Amino acid sequence: MTIVMKFGGTSVGSGERIAAAAKIITQYAQADPVVVTSAMSGVTNTLLELAGSIAQNDSAARDTILKHLIEKHRVAAQHINAKDNWEHLEQILQNFEVFIRGLTPADAAEPKGIDSIASWGERLTVPLVAGAVAARGYAVAPAVTPLIGTDETFGDATPDAEKTQRIATEALQNAKKINAILIAPGYIGVSPNNHITTLGRGGSDYAATLIAAALNANACWIYTDVNGVFTADPRIAPQARALPIITYGAAGRLAVSGAKVLHQRSVAPAARTGMELRVLNSFEPEHPGTIITREAKKIKGLPLAVVGRENVAIIRLVGSGVAETPKVFERMIIALAKASVAIEMTIAPIPRHDPEVVIDMRQSSLAAEALMKEFAIEYDSGLLDSVLVDNDVSLCIVVGSSLGSSAIRSARKALESAYINPINEAYASDAVTYLLRRKDMLPAILCLHQQCILPAVNARMPIGRPYKSGQWAAGGKAARQRTLQSAH
Ligand code: ADP
Ligand code: ASP
Ligand code: MG
Repeated sequence: MTIVMKFGGTSVGSGERIAAAAKIITQYAQADPVVVTSAMSGVTNTLLELAGSIAQNDSAARDTILKHLIEKHRVAAQHINAKDNWEHLEQILQNFEVFIRGLTPADAAEPKGIDSIASWGERLTVPLVAGAVAARGYAVAPAVTPLIGTDETFGDATPDAEKTQRIATEALQNAKKINAILIAPGYIGVSPNNHITTLGRGGSDYAATLIAAALNANACWIYTDVNGVFTADPRIAPQARALPIITYGAAGRLAVSGAKVLHQRSVAPAARTGMELRVLNSFEPEHPGTIITREAKKIKGLPLAVVGRENVAIIRLVGSGVAETPKVFERMIIALAKASVAIEMTIAPIPRHDPEVVIDMRQSSLAAEALMKEFAIEYDSGLLDSVLVDNDVSLCIVVGSSLGSSAIRSARKALESAYINPINEAYASDAVTYLLRRKDMLPAILCLHQQCILPAVNARMPIGRPYKSGQWAAGGKAARQRTLQSAH
């Protein structure tokens, strides 16, 4: 059997945390773990700053950041095992320094260069995690190159399943030959031209499920800094509680809606293969966390969690002649899709209504340009006055499993009680989406969580009786051991 265990940034954020991760890994040594690691927390951001300093030709800033990063990894190494000479890490640190010093400002300004620079966070954590596992007496096989094949969309690469399977299987076979635990970098991939790519911020979750799918693993366990998937971001709603079980559908919807705990695309490979996906806490490894499965009768119809998104904008075609323009909405959608603008919500026009869609705010100028080009003739002839961008909006999404009218009613009632009037709303079986003014997002999250989600979840899933794979389980390590046994 194979279990992929992924450790996020805070779970490998210091020498102490990496040693704790190694303890968790080796506890499951008999289950053939394959480890996927993120960069130490903060390192990817610092690497992006480093790219900025090189692009601006600021060699003093570059040198300071470089020194800080080298020191940070050395300090962690000493904390993990002061007796080791850390030869492998030192070699990689040297490669890192040579690579960085060899970059021109132009290299560091283009997406290809930025991805190469950002990739070093994970590449430097691999030898640290490997050293920590080795210090516990286990053979290790640290992967120095990515296990994921991708296209060349730098910053947001699309994986190539066949190539990933080839690379990952070969790496695992080589590790098995020497009875070693394979330790791989998350977040990064390799393109057909052998360039390093990244899967987007937070992409180590996605890397883990991709590798797990490629290796036909029995399970993928995502270790993070909270006790699983919560009913709301616990940093925003202190009352939020961890959900013992959710479906792939609900987890996927939460992820694409922007819940940071899982990368947007990370649930799909697990849903595709039907593997066991868990979100666990590396700071409290005995907690059963959240299990994500195909279906769970216990939660059918329940609103499970609420997510807020601030970085959205409405883009609207305004003009007295818009209503007379044939196929205006269809042309709007096609033009945005062609420009690779991600549409978050569509608001289909009624006669005389200005057609509008909700997009990611960071793409507003790209979207406005694409629409001005598409409707150039209408603009010149005065049918269209302007393409309007409204940034003063947010989305609030209630996610659930087979949501029905009672969940919708209860969400509406919660918003009304807080005097929040949505600008628009959209219903799907796994989500109710509200378009709100920006100032209303936080109060909306809190009132929906308190009045619509918590009562429903608490009634169906009492705390202390974690629900697992269709049965009530004891939870914690015992529950996971049972999963392992049933997978044999
Ligand atoms: P990692 O570095 O382990 O990948 P992240 O910071 O990317 O961790 O994701 C974990 C964080 O996600 C949590 O600390 C929490 O604040 C945030 N989060 C947002 N929404 C949720 C949610 N619904 N459930 C759990 N955590 C959430
Ligand atoms: N290190 C990457 C990031 O910070 C990927 C990850 O941690 O998931 O975005
Ligand atoms: Mg993450």
